[in-house]
Amino acid sequence: MPGFDAFHARSLADRDGFWGEQAALIDWNAKPTQVCDYSRPPFAKWFVGGTTNLCHNAVDRWLPTQADKPALIFISTETDTEETYTFRQLHAEVSRTAAMLKALGVGKGDRVLIYMPMIPEAAFAMLACARIGAIHSVVFGGFASHSLASRIDDARPRVIVSADAGSRAGKVVPYKGLLDEAIALSKNKPARVLMFDRKLAAMPMSAGRDVDWATLALQHVNAQVPVEWLESSEPSYILYTSGTTGTPKGVQRDTGGYAVALAASMKHIYDGHPGETYFSTSDIGWVVGHSYIVYGPLIAGMATIMYEGTPVRPDAGILWKIVQDYKVAVMFSAPTAIRVLKKQDPAYLAKYDLSSLKTLWLAGEPLDEPTSRWIADSLGRPVVDNYWQTETGWPILTYPMGIEDRPRKFGSPGMPMYGYNVKLLHENTGEEVGVNEKGVVAIVPPLPPGCMTTVWGDDARFVKTYFDSVPGKQVYSTFDWGIKDEDGCFFILGRTDDVINVAGHRLGTREIEESISSHAGIAEVAVVGVADQLKGQVPIGFAVVKDARDIATPEARRKLEGEVMKTVDGQLGAIARPYRVHFVTLLPKTRSGKVLRRSIQAICEGRDPGDLTTIEDPGALQQVKDAVNPV
Ligand code: AMP
Repeated sequence: MPGFDAFHARSLADRDGFWGEQAALIDWNAKPTQVCDYSRPPFAKWFVGGTTNLCHNAVDRWLPTQADKPALIFISTETDTEETYTFRQLHAEVSRTAAMLKALGVGKGDRVLIYMPMIPEAAFAMLACARIGAIHSVVFGGFASHSLASRIDDARPRVIVSADAGSRAGKVVPYKGLLDEAIALSKNKPARVLMFDRKLAAMPMSAGRDVDWATLALQHVNAQVPVEWLESSEPSYILYTSGTTGTPKGVQRDTGGYAVALAASMKHIYDGHPGETYFSTSDIGWVVGHSYIVYGPLIAGMATIMYEGTPVRPDAGILWKIVQDYKVAVMFSAPTAIRVLKKQDPAYLAKYDLSSLKTLWLAGEPLDEPTSRWIADSLGRPVVDNYWQTETGWPILTYPMGIEDRPRKFGSPGMPMYGYNVKLLHENTGEEVGVNEKGVVAIVPPLPPGCMTTVWGDDARFVKTYFDSVPGKQVYSTFDWGIKDEDGCFFILGRTDDVINVAGHRLGTREIEESISSHAGIAEVAVVGVADQLKGQVPIGFAVVKDARDIATPEARRKLEGEVMKTVDGQLGAIARPYRVHFVTLLPKTRSGKVLRRSIQAICEGRDPGDLTTIEDPGALQQVKDAVNPV
């Protein structure tokens, strides 16, 4: 087998030949007639004329050879449940769920919003949508009513699928109240709401709209629903992600390109094979959950583990116990989870037989060297960083373990993957920067299969957001800074925009600011991401109050800070809650009125605030300093 360099070079030089071969990794009902239609840059259509189905490739395809092998393994340390569904059982569950959705009026192209905890029914619902050609939009269960409402308004789902509650660290998180509030807030109300009752929390039903999952399921026990063959470019799902504006973007994914990209990544990158077990600790609400809990492993014929729980309950050995018990071959987690475990007794790692594990993959945020070294030494297995985004759906940079085990550098997520023509560009000139020089990580289009095809309902926003930021060039911007060393290894240096990354989750500071500003006592606010040892970054707010009496005493400040946090909890979810909210009488701004977020962030991190020649009132910066370092 040729080395990876030749593999990568061919993927760009002979794009259609390369991807035409990769297309054979999945089942097609009708074979594609054209590999890539790039007649309307930057929009790319992959595997034109081919018809396929994600659910067929993830489930039905494996029935002839491994119907009785495990497909979906559900483990909840929150409810003490372990259930294994074979491919045959998964097929039956998904068919039934597909019939239920059809009975609720869902057809091809209709959107179904899934607001679910990490339970098997969430995966059934996703796969059922794929089966009937409906477009799912999974919203992370940790998001609250306003976040949910904005997604309902944009996706305009015909049906919402939800459950009574999630559970985190032993605490029940009721969903129904938030969901009802979100539907009340939204302008585009769903016709029906399908509710799964876990019997964890009250689930008041709205007559005529809400339907009980178990009751409806009884009417479709042995349902057989044929797959809907979709043209390769037809959308499979929408997944919302935060950007620099307050409105989340709906990342739209196709069908055939995504299936091929995932199948190829399981083979060339993750080195996962039929019959093996894949364990990703992510959540179906994130892109990792879509690509590497649900679709990727199943498309590769692997068993996939859905885990509801934290890395430290009942104790810090739980993830490794799962690896041992289910003979996990490929594991995927986030650096934050490993940093949490690093603070615990290392004996937990030694306690379990981890011999089945080939590789631990970490992604979602920068992987620092101490964490990487610690876990690699403790496991005695390759620990591989991979860098990608919701938009790309699969790794941009990593080490392709399925092709060759290359020397890895601590702190580097590796090199560009096949299909990605990655460049580091100067932010002002758009020219390529030299070795070890900082530039914007950009991808020369067409984006490879599996990447977002557009912003849902807004082609112009897709072009403007992603392809218009580098001067003089129509290239895709990741909005990350990077450098490349003399060996071709990349290093990611942080975002070029106001997006922050908390424990591997992307949050837009603008959304948090909008939420804080909705508190009646707040006039203005700036939120910045500040380095945090455990979570990578945490949001910190600096707010100007309308009435100085609200912050006249330390008690009053604390009270207002608590209220502001509650507002964010209720609107966006605890995940977006600022770590601290400091109160000031004015925000540092340029003379043209732009908030100096970078300077605020630098002060919070104890760094030099940089060029302040344009500042309107230096006193504002002093207030930030005083708030961060009270005397
Ligand atoms: P999301 O779309 O929420 O997965 O966030 C993607 C962003 O997370 C990227 O643009 C990076 O800023 C960051 N990110 C993801 N993976 C890595 C990684 N391996 N190393 C450094 N940053 C990462």
